[in-house]
Amino acid sequence: MARSALFLLLFCATNASLALLYPFSLSRLLLVTVLYALGTGVMLYLLFHPRNQWLVANRSQVGRDGCVALTFDDGPDPVDTPRLLDLLREKGVKATFFVVGQRADRHPEIVRRAWNEGHLIANHTWSHRPFFCFLSPRQLRFEIERGSQSIERICGVRTRYFRSPVGLRHPLLRFALQRTGVEFISWRIRSYDTMIKNSGLLARHILSKVTSRDIILMHDRRSKGAHVMLEALPGVIDKLKERGFEFVLVGSRESAPCDTKI
Ligand SMILES: [Zn+2]
Repeated sequence: MARSALFLLLFCATNASLALLYPFSLSRLLLVTVLYALGTGVMLYLLFHPRNQWLVANRSQVGRDGCVALTFDDGPDPVDTPRLLDLLREKGVKATFFVVGQRADRHPEIVRRAWNEGHLIANHTWSHRPFFCFLSPRQLRFEIERGSQSIERICGVRTRYFRSPVGLRHPLLRFALQRTGVEFISWRIRSYDTMIKNSGLLARHILSKVTSRDIILMHDRRSKGAHVMLEALPGVIDKLKERGFEFVLVGSRESAPCDTKI
């Protein structure tokens, strides 16, 4: 709780620094600009940096040397997720899907297929709210719990893993995750598949970064389609196999203990 309180204090102090502008002078403006920029910079780092452990413990690697984990966020998508599952089956590769509960409920057959084919299904919140870090405590619990319930309904297991939208932290996330018994999974490699529009470039970007034990972030649902990632992925898998990497899930497919519901 101390870190959440400190974060809140930093937020209040940063905004309160604006009061120093009165009475106005150039030197006061300079001081406030420096204080406000510093406070905002530290807050943004704590909320956005994918491997920052300060607000909530998280994991960005898998346990064994020589392994890598492919993770796909934001699905299921009725078109691209089945195409991805076909590709993974063809390549004999298992992956982890961080599904959005609302979308999973709309396409349960796709999530069930992924689960039945040996992939891991994990929680990416109920509705993928863009301002995740500003949710009220009640909304935060709702987003996590309802996302887990959706997976439990479809796959019959209670997931042990969670990733927030864009990896955003929330000052109270540590406590919400402790109560639900799920682990925050981050990433070492951001593929930038939401920005790179050329499959060759995307493949080269991923392959130039990957090292042993890395968790790789990709997306199987995008508003304009995930075709760039789907075109890049076969080559990425083949090259990583050539380098001797084994593909693993980010964790266990076993159900979380059932006494961990909020
Ligand atoms: Zn997402």
